[in-house]
Amino acid sequence: MDVSVRFLDDLRDAVGPQHVLTDADVVAGYTSDWTGRFVGSTPGVVRPSNVVEVAAIIEACRRADVALVPQGGNTGLVGGSVPLAGELVLSTERMTAITDVDADSGQLTAGAGATLAAVQTAATEAGWRYGVDLAARDSATVGGMIATNAGGLRVIRHGSTRRQVLGVEAVTGSGRVIRRLDGLVKDNTGYDLAGLLCGSEGTLGIVCRARLALVAPPIGVVTALLGFADIESAVRAGGLLRRSVAGLEAVEMVLAPGAFLVSEVTGSSPVLDPIPPVQLLVEAVGPPDPTDSLSAVIDEVDGVLAVAVATDARRSQALWHVRDAHTEAIARVGIPLKFDVTLPSRRLAGFCREVVDAVAEVTSRSQTWLFGHLADGNVHVNVTGWTTAEAERIERAVLARVAEAGGSISAEHGIGTAKRAWLTTNRGTPDVEVMAAIKRALDPDGICNPGVLLPLD
Ligand SMILES: Cc1cc2nc3c(=O)[nH]c(=O)nc-3n(C[C@H](O)[C@H](O)[C@H](O)COP(=O)(O)OP(=O)(O)OC[C@H]3O[C@@H](n4cnc5c(N)ncnc54)[C@H](O)[C@@H]3O)c2cc1C
Repeated sequence: MDVSVRFLDDLRDAVGPQHVLTDADVVAGYTSDWTGRFVGSTPGVVRPSNVVEVAAIIEACRRADVALVPQGGNTGLVGGSVPLAGELVLSTERMTAITDVDADSGQLTAGAGATLAAVQTAATEAGWRYGVDLAARDSATVGGMIATNAGGLRVIRHGSTRRQVLGVEAVTGSGRVIRRLDGLVKDNTGYDLAGLLCGSEGTLGIVCRARLALVAPPIGVVTALLGFADIESAVRAGGLLRRSVAGLEAVEMVLAPGAFLVSEVTGSSPVLDPIPPVQLLVEAVGPPDPTDSLSAVIDEVDGVLAVAVATDARRSQALWHVRDAHTEAIARVGIPLKFDVTLPSRRLAGFCREVVDAVAEVTSRSQTWLFGHLADGNVHVNVTGWTTAEAERIERAVLARVAEAGGSISAEHGIGTAKRAWLTTNRGTPDVEVMAAIKRALDPDGICNPGVLLPLD
């Protein structure tokens, strides 16, 4: 997209010349996504430090009719944070302050560019804990996590990002500043605008700050890795654990091919050796200390082939490794096609088998890697070894099976550019029409991430 000298001058006036990057080598770092699958180009990267500067950027974009793509940690996996049609990039990397930490109410205010790890540290220092965790914690930002309504490893206990957000400060695409950062736990005064921005993927406006609720810190953490012969046994075990273990926070699933890959790529020895066909990573927290209750339930679980238990942080990390390292290990094999789907739990095992066969029917050269958040019915389907000509057929094979099984095409990564063609199939026309009406109301000029989420007209 060509932009005028006048437009770039307006941006420089808004944020200071040193924060408008136009050098080709420098901006190149902002034009491709984490997977390497989505690569775009941009006339510039603008780096505001606060809401006033963001509002000025929005005004400049509206005047000049220039679209922008908000970018946080750029760990999104659906091509939503990169300028695929030559948009301006608005990076939140300078908006990292964490302020107003309130140890009494268990709340803090975080800038959109603060990383999840920084929020977690601030929460711990205040004697609390942040309820969301995911493997991209060192890069993923508050703004990106709100925009994608990120889920992660503890959704069964604390919910997704939406549940942690008490209010936001944001600039809509129409240039209006909305602000509700007082942290009111009860506030029934009309539409929940913060909730609306959760999962909006940068299409309605820019999140600048958020008031986040914290959760009580765990006292006593027990982690267990359980081996099973098949997914059916693992799903049954997941159900028993959920109804029997108070303080259950995570039930994550990995399969043998991914576990072998993690060992090979990271050079680590598997905790369960020989590697079983299916492993569940289970974590429960106290108070009260969950070790005995989790052990008692594990004794009742049918079909357990092997168990490892950890009650200290170092050993627990060793158990988590096989799950945490999956995304990065798969990325080392090749650029993955990524699908992040939820299924009703009774369809999960069948889907996992069928989807591997369905992809193999499109191309026998590909490999399908499955892992995910079993307790949420959420499977990450990653396919490597595809060609551009095969990508669309693989996408159809996977997503059609999800639709048939009554699932969702995006459990937590969002729609981005990667899945927008499938949104209407999954949500239905009335839902998508209402979403489009909301988009028109908040972003009448269509400048905020126009290539993302909503299907092409
Ligand atoms: C190793 C790895 C593990 C992951 N695990 C999980 C997981 O368990 N659960 C999960 O949900 N996700 C996971 N993800 C995906 C990713 O981390 C999340 O989607 C995260 O929320 C993205 O945050 P980000 O700051 O990197 O956002 P970006 O990638 O920069 O942006 C994501 C989207 O948000 C928009 N956006 C960014 N900032 C703002 C803002 N301030 N205002 C408005 N819009 C904005 C962008 O335009 C884009 O559409 C994982 C990714 C990796 C690489």
